[in-house]
Amino acid sequence: MKRVLILDLDNTIYPVSSIAQYLFNKFFFLLNQEAGIDSSALIRSKDELIRRPFHDVADEFSFSPELRNKGIEILNNLTCDEILVPFSDYHHIRKSALDKFLVTTGFTKLQYSKVKQLGIENDFKEIHIVDPEVSPKTKLDIFKELMDKYNYQATEVLVIGDDPQSEIRAAIALGIDTFLYDPDNKYPEAKTTYRGDSLEKVLVVIS
Ligand SMILES: [Mg+2]
Repeated sequence: MKRVLILDLDNTIYPVSSIAQYLFNKFFFLLNQEAGIDSSALIRSKDELIRRPFHDVADEFSFSPELRNKGIEILNNLTCDEILVPFSDYHHIRKSALDKFLVTTGFTKLQYSKVKQLGIENDFKEIHIVDPEVSPKTKLDIFKELMDKYNYQATEVLVIGDDPQSEIRAAIALGIDTFLYDPDNKYPEAKTTYRGDSLEKVLVVIS
């Protein structure tokens, strides 16, 4: 019997594509305020930058140290000030009476601003941002800490997310059941306990 849901944020509760352009423009504007930084590598990497962590893209596209450092400095302070809208099926999760936790990876201020703009902060017992700039802790570490703190058994927990290499993998390593939210069927081969193209299905698998 499940009594706990742990959710990812990006592309699990709302579509990143809905704010990618806005955030990129804001980031790009702030970067161009800085004199002497060649941002051509940034423009070339735009499509990747929208989808993947900044550090990874910076390595792959050989960003200069100035571009890399300034980019991280800006991202550390970037916030989302647009109103965000959760996926239309998120309300099924919201109305569930189980204990719910949000565990998301990214820059702390930016992730919190998204939570605020989505209006979901009161849906969760605790919200954790895994920010590599702040701490070496991973999602797996946070899952373990939550289980210890609240005395949850692995069998009582369900982790819900869109990334087989992130929260899904961490949960499997801890013996926790997983729900891969994959509305576009991007990962038909991925290892997961459950999968679905709608968050409504989560209520079915936990019932
Ligand atoms: Mg995600």
